[in-house]
Amino acid sequence: MNMTQASTQLEDVGLVTFIGAGVMGLPMVRNLKKGGVTVRVFDVREDVRNALEAEGIAVVATLAEAGAARGTVIAMLPDTPDVRSVVLGPNGLVETLPEGSLFVDMSTIAPAAERDMSERLEARNIAMVDAPVSGGVIGAVNGTLSIMVGGTDTAFAAARPILAHMGTTILHAGGIGSGQVFKMCNQLMVASHIQAMCEAFALARAHEVDLTLMSNALRGGAAGSWMLDNLGPKVIAKDGSAGFRIDLQLKDLKLANDAAFEKGVPLPGLAVATSLYLEARAHGEGSNGNQALFRTFDRLANQAER
Ligand code: NAD
Repeated sequence: MNMTQASTQLEDVGLVTFIGAGVMGLPMVRNLKKGGVTVRVFDVREDVRNALEAEGIAVVATLAEAGAARGTVIAMLPDTPDVRSVVLGPNGLVETLPEGSLFVDMSTIAPAAERDMSERLEARNIAMVDAPVSGGVIGAVNGTLSIMVGGTDTAFAAARPILAHMGTTILHAGGIGSGQVFKMCNQLMVASHIQAMCEAFALARAHEVDLTLMSNALRGGAAGSWMLDNLGPKVIAKDGSAGFRIDLQLKDLKLANDAAFEKGVPLPGLAVATSLYLEARAHGEGSNGNQALFRTFDRLANQAER
C-alpha cells in the first residue's frame, strides 16, 4: 500500500465535529475543548446532548448538521453498523461533508469497513483515517490514550495535531484499516491478560490469602501489567462495573476471530477467552465491565458467593 499517494486535497480541518459522546467520547470532547479546539458534538441521544449543553459544549441536533461544515469529523461509536450508518446512511457524511474535509474514525470496528468507507469518501475528495484507541476510560479522561492510525501520510499529518489533545502515543500504523489491525492485536492481549489475572485471583481467593498483598507482590515482578494495576483493585473489591463493557469486548473478540479466519491463523488463546466472555454474557454480564470476568472464574470454582 502506498501511503504517500494522497489523492485528497485537505483544506482547513480545524473545526471539529465529534459524533458519539459516550463513556469514551465525552472525556475526549472535554480534552479537545480544554486544548482550545473549536468543537461541536452530535449524539443520537437527546439526554446526552442536553447534558453537553448544560456543560457549555456546543451541540448539533441532527446528523445532517454534523456534516454541513468543512472541517474534521470524529466518530466514537460502538460498532461497525453505527459508523457505516453515519457515513453511508441517510444524510450520511459521504453526502453532506464538504470537499477537503477529514473524517477520523476512532471507534473500534472492522478494517474492511474502514477501507470501504475511505474509498467512497475519497471519491468525493474527503480524506479519512481509522484511529482506534487503547487506554480505557482512564486514558480518555487523562488525555493519555494510545492512538493507532491508518491512512495516507497526508491524512495522518492533518489528524495528528487534533489527536494530540486526546492521546500521548500517536502511531501511524500504515494504510487505511491498519489502525484497526493493531487494535485487534491489543484486544486479543487485553482479553488474555484479564483471563490470566482473574485466574490468579480465583486461585488466591480459594486459598484465602490476602488478595491486595498478593497483587502488590505480583505488580513488582514479571507478572505486573496494566490490567493488574488498573482493574486488579476492582476485582479484589468484587466490583464488576463498567468501564469497558463485556458486550464491547465480545464485539472486539469477534473482529479478531473474523480476522484470524480470513488469514487462517490459529489463535487458541483467543478462542478460550471468547468462550469465557460468552459465558459471562450468558449470565447477564453484557453491560458490566470486562473485569467482571472474575465472576466466570468464581462460577467455575463454585465460589461465587464467598
Ligand atoms: P458508548 O456506548 O458509551 O458511547 C457511544 C455513544 O455513541 C453513545 O452516547 C450513543 O448514544 C452514541 N451513538 C450511537 N449511535 C449513534 C449514531 N448513529 N449517531 C450519533 N451518536 C450515536 O461506547 P464507548 O464505550 O464510548 O465506546 C465507543 C467505541 O470506543 C467503541 O467502538 C469501543 O469498542 C471503543 N473503545 C471503548 C473503550 C472503553 O473503555 N469504553 C476503550 C477503548 C475503545
